Amino acid sequence: MTEASQHKAQLRAYFDGIGFERWAAIYGGQEQLSRIRRTIREGHGAMLEQATAWLGESFGTAIGTKTALDAGCGTGLFSVALARMGFEVTAIDIAPQMVDAALQFAQRAGMRERITFMSGDLEALQGSYDAVACFDVLVHYPPPLFAPMLRRLAELSRGPLLITYAPYNRLLASLHWLGGRFPRSQRRQDIQMIPDAFVAQTLAEARRYIHRTARISNGFYHVTLLEARPTSATT
Ligand code: SAH
Repeated sequence: MTEASQHKAQLRAYFDGIGFERWAAIYGGQEQLSRIRRTIREGHGAMLEQATAWLGESFGTAIGTKTALDAGCGTGLFSVALARMGFEVTAIDIAPQMVDAALQFAQRAGMRERITFMSGDLEALQGSYDAVACFDVLVHYPPPLFAPMLRRLAELSRGPLLITYAPYNRLLASLHWLGGRFPRSQRRQDIQMIPDAFVAQTLAEARRYIHRTARISNGFYHVTLLEARPTSATT
């Protein structure tokens, strides 16, 4: 197995097991949350709101004719938000349990028909979308695996690419409370901090420029939300 496929197999096991329980509780409707988890839920919610506003600004009333990919969709919070905005959505996640949860959430939200769900590795996806979102996924990949994944995401979008990453040099003790009492393969995955310059360089190599960024910080949730766009029209 390559380093990448090994890492992905670990992430898949985590998000299909103990990670599913943890993150579904944070993202989902569970009311009884620790203070720490609540700050993560709120920070994540603020990030999704900012991303929704940016996409709304970018596409305006044209959204109804556009396709969007939610790469690493988790429980489907943003997939459903995209569908509500009017996009025709594809949602993919490497963890089957996440895809199931996202599907059920879309069903409850009345958005099931607008979303195509897939279980698998986003890097193996083919195709081209008007917009691509990949939130809180790259935070789990160290630089040598982060770069090819970011390049692949750029190729998948003919328009905006929205990602989050964990900026380097921030104390991301944030998620350290998650786990420690579990067998190694089941533990929370470490958050990988990536220098801004590394992100910028990788995007430049993929012929993308940074259109805008926002720093989202709330309690134990710290990410940079970034929108990249093609440097030239490549449709
Ligand atoms: N984007 C969602 C979920 C974030 S949790 C949200 O912001 O609400 C990170 C998710 O990425 C997990 O569900 C995990 O299974 C998924 N993931 C990690 N690596 C992946 C890969 N290579 N391909 C597809 N999904 C991946």
